[in-house]
Amino acid sequence: MRIVVVGAGPAGTRAAVRAAALPDAQVTLIGAEAALPYDRVALSRLLAGEIEVPALITHDAMALRAARVAYRPATRIARIDRDARALHTSDDATIAYDHLVLALGSEALRLPIPGADLPGVIGYRDLPDVRRMLRMAEGRGQAVVIGGGLLGLEAAAGLANRGMKVTVVHAVDWPMERQLDARAGALLARRMGARGIRFVMPARTVALEGEGHVQGVRLDDGRVLPARLVVMAVGIRPNVALAREAGLDVGRGIRTDARLFSSDGRIQAVGECAEVNGVCVGLVAPALEQAEAAIAALHTNGAWAPRTDAAALKVNGTDVWSAGDIGAEAEALTLHDEAADQYRRLLVRNDRLVGAVLYGDTRDAGFYLDLIKRGVPLGRMRAALALGPQFTDQAA
Ligand SMILES: Cc1cc2nc3c(=O)[nH]c(=O)nc-3n(C[C@H](O)[C@H](O)[C@H](O)COP(=O)(O)OP(=O)(O)OC[C@H]3O[C@@H](n4cnc5c(N)ncnc54)[C@H](O)[C@@H]3O)c2cc1C
Repeated sequence: MRIVVVGAGPAGTRAAVRAAALPDAQVTLIGAEAALPYDRVALSRLLAGEIEVPALITHDAMALRAARVAYRPATRIARIDRDARALHTSDDATIAYDHLVLALGSEALRLPIPGADLPGVIGYRDLPDVRRMLRMAEGRGQAVVIGGGLLGLEAAAGLANRGMKVTVVHAVDWPMERQLDARAGALLARRMGARGIRFVMPARTVALEGEGHVQGVRLDDGRVLPARLVVMAVGIRPNVALAREAGLDVGRGIRTDARLFSSDGRIQAVGECAEVNGVCVGLVAPALEQAEAAIAALHTNGAWAPRTDAAALKVNGTDVWSAGDIGAEAEALTLHDEAADQYRRLLVRNDRLVGAVLYGDTRDAGFYLDLIKRGVPLGRMRAALALGPQFTDQAA
């Protein structure tokens, strides 16, 4: 069986390697990017200068050969011909398949504002984006990051590490509002401020200005922030155009059942491009699980269901982590050690932990994630829960 996987991000690469272990499978992995499969999550460490490109690569040529995966980099699929069971590349080559796995990921959103296409405006998604940022950072100067979510803050910290003067423009009152409550957000902004990163929030960008190259960011209050580099980190959109044009059922993502099958029985979708029973994911762990479940579904009964995921900010010296439902109607247990600059907020509903935010010290993250996932009654543990596992053990 010819199994073709399109998209060589984490989900596609995992699916290809698993599929190649099936008896009689002949697997081709096709990726639009020129690089060997790499760890997208680690791009921020590359930007910050903590690692070099070789450390990003997850599967080198030898590993792919050993796994019996034929890899075609720098190959963009432009069209799926479902009747002929063939893919057409952007340079008019044809690749036949018996079974197709789409792992197309997402694209970085661009704000639909004047100047968004000016040179010097970069989305933050892949290795070429980081290379562009690094080239721009060589000349130092001012950078503006639009969006104070996880990605925006990692971009800001990386560029600041590279010597740029960075301002983060964020539409909400505090950064990472999807993961953090207002207090943790304020502490985080203060700590990043101490590294020279300025926050302008709440503020909306209405235009990017410049002649031939971006020079400034115009805000809704009329201010213009000078910038020779603008990073837009304002969200992602699943890549669905290929599937839509092929007539597959598409919502926000490519719609699949729990076995990751699209509306075509020969085509599965996994990772960020998929919408599995109405759920789109934006983290690497569930994307990898989907890849495993999809290939398992080809020979046993693989299926995927959403579960609690955790998000952590990867900025050296700034530990922030959150998991579960932090906007929940719930009782909040908080602990704030101002002197140590540490804060934790735990959300409890019906005597069960449903969400957690840790700032400053994230060493107990695994403990809280486990409690959220298992949904066990807290009982006597509750009294000392915010102090961490050593103390709760004694209370339990
Ligand atoms: C800077 C950064 C930091 C992140 N940090 C974290 C983190 O700390 N924790 C976390 O869980 N997640 C993090 N993420 C998100 C994580 O990277 C994604 O969830 C994960 O990469 C999704 O994997 P995927 O394989 O579904 O998609 P992708 O990794 O996007 O891979 C899809 C691939 O498909 C290719 N492709 C698309 N269309 C075509 C086509 N027509 N033909 C051929 N190839 C095509 C793309 O070029 C891309 O290489 C981060 C993301 C970024 C950008």
